[in-house]
Amino acid sequence: MRIAVIADIHANLEALRAVLDRIAGLAIDETVCLGDIVGYGASPNECVEMIRSRNISCVLGNHDACASGLEEPEHFNPLAREAVFWTREQLTGENRQFLRDQRREKRVHDAFLFHGSIHDTNRYLLSRRDALYNFELLHGEAGAVTVGFFGHTHVRAAWTAHEGTVSSELAPELALAPEKRYLINPGSVGQPRDGDPQASFLVYDQEARTAVFFSVKYDIKACQDRIVRAGLPPQLAERLAWGR
Ligand code: ZN
Repeated sequence: MRIAVIADIHANLEALRAVLDRIAGLAIDETVCLGDIVGYGASPNECVEMIRSRNISCVLGNHDACASGLEEPEHFNPLAREAVFWTREQLTGENRQFLRDQRREKRVHDAFLFHGSIHDTNRYLLSRRDALYNFELLHGEAGAVTVGFFGHTHVRAAWTAHEGTVSSELAPELALAPEKRYLINPGSVGQPRDGDPQASFLVYDQEARTAVFFSVKYDIKACQDRIVRAGLPPQLAERLAWGR
């Protein structure tokens, strides 16, 4: 089983298309999404429809929760909040309902999917301490789960736990040791924040026990133009060129 893991699309249709085109050429059995299909970008309906039409299994992101009215964007910065309210006006009833129907975490084969932290969509998993906390919660989930996938930070990460020690083991290609457990962030499709403006995702190969990161070029200019034309804050367009 080869699983493509995508996250944090943020209504960036150009990036999502480029990533799904790339995945189509990779002999993938299933694609899963770690949440935040919408928010920030100008193509919320198009992105939700692309995910729905391909039966991509998703979990709920914090922007999905706010844009669909499940939560209020109380802790969002002003730019993110403005994008939430714009997105609420754009979403069709069907697409809003699709977002509202997503669970906050789920198991797919031997992997556990969540957005920010286990049992808390809004909490960032950034530090070794955060990873330790999530490994403890992961341990409480079904026994066969050895790898958790998360998003929310928009930055690639790979944490491992073995005999009580947690460490970072980020590399472009990871060989997953059977005796260790892993928490892995594929990076962001639609709003990368690691200084590389390319769209990011990963492929998890269950049998080979590997996780391989991919970077995909997309038409950033077309996406930026769409954000500006929609009347969204221009900073949301500009940041895409820097990957910040
Ligand atoms: Zn996000």
